[in-house]
Amino acid sequence: MGFSDDGWSMRMSFTKPLSVLAVPAFADNYLWLIHDGVHAAVVDPGDAAPVFAALDEHKLSLTAILLTHHHADHVGGVPSLLRRFKVPVFGPRTEAIAGVTQALAEGDHATIPELGLTLSVLDVPGHTRGHIAYVAARQGWLFCGDTLFAGGCGRLFEGTPAQMTGSLAKLAALPESTQVYCAHEYTLSNLRFAREIEPDNDALAARIQSEQIKRDRGQPTVPSTIALEKSTNPFLRYSQANIIDRLIAANRLAVREPIAAFAAIREWKNSYR
Ligand code: ZN
Ligand code: FE
Repeated sequence: MGFSDDGWSMRMSFTKPLSVLAVPAFADNYLWLIHDGVHAAVVDPGDAAPVFAALDEHKLSLTAILLTHHHADHVGGVPSLLRRFKVPVFGPRTEAIAGVTQALAEGDHATIPELGLTLSVLDVPGHTRGHIAYVAARQGWLFCGDTLFAGGCGRLFEGTPAQMTGSLAKLAALPESTQVYCAHEYTLSNLRFAREIEPDNDALAARIQSEQIKRDRGQPTVPSTIALEKSTNPFLRYSQANIIDRLIAANRLAVREPIAAFAAIREWKNSYR
């Protein structure tokens, strides 16, 4: 193989390691900056001001925008960002979002050459009909917007329980070490509800303690991992017998059927205070 044929691996070997930076926005959103110290891609910039501030602070130049779904708290900053940076905007094929230049669906890839980064796309309908998630397989990162949360999942604004369980199953099938970069800091209230569903789950009790410590120190609880979600998140554990028993005992479920159990948990959470 000649030198020129090896351009890809040459480029990879010179690429700086990538990191992910949390940019807090609004009351409880996280906008994610994937960067190599020079270039950055932003995931779900609901607001432009905190992105500009983070880019300035870390001396980064924006090279791509990645969107998971159409809600304003995920896309609101796109027009302002595009006025300063002429960059590709990746987004879901089946949602109409102003500014999207690369419309993606499952099986597609988002390639960001400046970062040497390729993300694969999963369709994860449920929160919205066209919601997508991005997986950086080599880095072990998942950017899942409002589909899977730490200890919870997004509300079903446009999709059905069957769609959401299918979407969550795709995410749960990723390697257990995958870092879960969700879009909101809802973890403590999610886990308080999870405790209602599984009062005897020791992993959940331990998680509540460790996440509370992070919040007391002002640290994010995100990213989580797929392993931690599988052991503590009721929206991935709804088919377990102990959870079905709990739902029936609470008069929240009439049939021992997994998707009905998922729907019952989601409905209970919607009104849980
Ligand atoms: Zn949303
Ligand atoms: Fe959101």
